[in-house]
Amino acid sequence: MNTPIRYESTRGNAPELGFEDVVLTGLAVDGGLYVPKTLPRIEPHTLVAWAKLPYHELAYEVIAPFVGDAIPEVDLRALLTETYEDFRHVAVAPLVQVGHNRHILELFHGPTLAFKDFALQFLGRTLDYFLKRRDERITIVGATSGDTGSAAIAGCRARDNMDIFILHPAGRVSDVQRRQMTTIADKNVHNIALKGTFDDCQDAVKALFADAEFRKAHRLVAVNSINWARILAQVVYYFYAALALGAPARAVSFAVPTGNFGDIYAGHIARRMGLPIDRLIIATNSNDILDRCVRSGEYKMDGVSPTLSPSMDIQISSNFERLLYELHGFDGEKIRKQMADLREKQVFSLSEPVKLALQKGFASGRAGDAETSATIRRVLEQSDYLADPHTAVGIAAAEKVARDGETIVVLSTAHPAKFPDAVERACGITPALPPHMDGLMTAAERYDTLENDLGALKAFIDKEQKKA
Ligand SMILES: *Cc1c(COP(=O)(O)O)cnc(C)c1O
Repeated sequence: MNTPIRYESTRGNAPELGFEDVVLTGLAVDGGLYVPKTLPRIEPHTLVAWAKLPYHELAYEVIAPFVGDAIPEVDLRALLTETYEDFRHVAVAPLVQVGHNRHILELFHGPTLAFKDFALQFLGRTLDYFLKRRDERITIVGATSGDTGSAAIAGCRARDNMDIFILHPAGRVSDVQRRQMTTIADKNVHNIALKGTFDDCQDAVKALFADAEFRKAHRLVAVNSINWARILAQVVYYFYAALALGAPARAVSFAVPTGNFGDIYAGHIARRMGLPIDRLIIATNSNDILDRCVRSGEYKMDGVSPTLSPSMDIQISSNFERLLYELHGFDGEKIRKQMADLREKQVFSLSEPVKLALQKGFASGRAGDAETSATIRRVLEQSDYLADPHTAVGIAAAEKVARDGETIVVLSTAHPAKFPDAVERACGITPALPPHMDGLMTAAERYDTLENDLGALKAFIDKEQKKA
């Protein structure tokens, strides 16, 4: 084993950590995000050998250098086998060809039908592994606008060293999304419908973490997309797809439906490790801060409006900070300054060289709701393929920026049955839930509705934990 990879904060004012502490910490104490200080370099002959591996074995090869000696090889192999065993497709992340040089990478065969299962099934097991070894117990608290909550619950349910509390905005998530959370009967799962918006939920979670005493007393851990283990698990499928399509001899591009920039950043890490990726295409809906930034070099907040692809309805994109850190020569002070500008003036500007470096590695395209629906219809007609609205944004963006002869893989981030209304309105077909979810719409639900009040939330968490 080579020297273990260490992690540092993008804001330069937090201690360097190893993998185990990075996973248990989430956000760095200086408000930054942890990134690896070095990356393994994968040579072409190694890529050739990796092309033969099934998904969970490839996952071991990609992930092991980042974990170092924090988990022994046999344990990490067993953990990864288990992580992807429950996926309902033997390929785990199958490719479907939908056009000449156009492929869809289906990332929705996990337990909650969205790509977030790839990361949260891994994170839940990794946390469990470390906590057992340390004989410790944690409390996971998270806010969700839909997909994160159910994937986090699916990854953490029935584990006796953690409680998980997920806040969703009451009446503002789809029935399927709510039921995927509230029909889980395990004792350690606590669903809260907060009377407010998704932003209120997020603010409440932030306030809990900002309360040092509460945070320490309950040993709070965040599982939002800034946790490095989530990014890491997502690096694997870029290798898997590119190898299936002929890497390293052939370079492909990826179009990625993007919100918080975690998924596409994982693709960037794969590229830096030596995987030949031509372009990474950022696909956004009308909440297009990233698309505007790639074009103009200005990162400017502009409110958030609801769309047909709600999991990409973001105001700012937290993981973008990781890329900015690299583009600014790993200078934490520059990032601190930009984030302060963003907080005070809702905007910061990239220098010309940084903007050019960004444009060199990333293309971007945007699709509004009308285009999203038209794309769902067109792909169904032309290729007999039913795409969910997030995937459709990716397909639309890919078509806008495609070059002659470019092979593009669009990441399909959700199963169409997760967003049946939008799909039905676009093309007249109501996508059916897969058979294993048969009971979902009739199973008993369990959740508590709370006022948007921090005191009430804290009291609720205290009370639930005393019951256990
Ligand atoms: C979370 C999510 C996204 C956005 O992914 P990021 O990593 O936040 O960019 C896209 N599509 C779906 C269906 C999601 O759940």
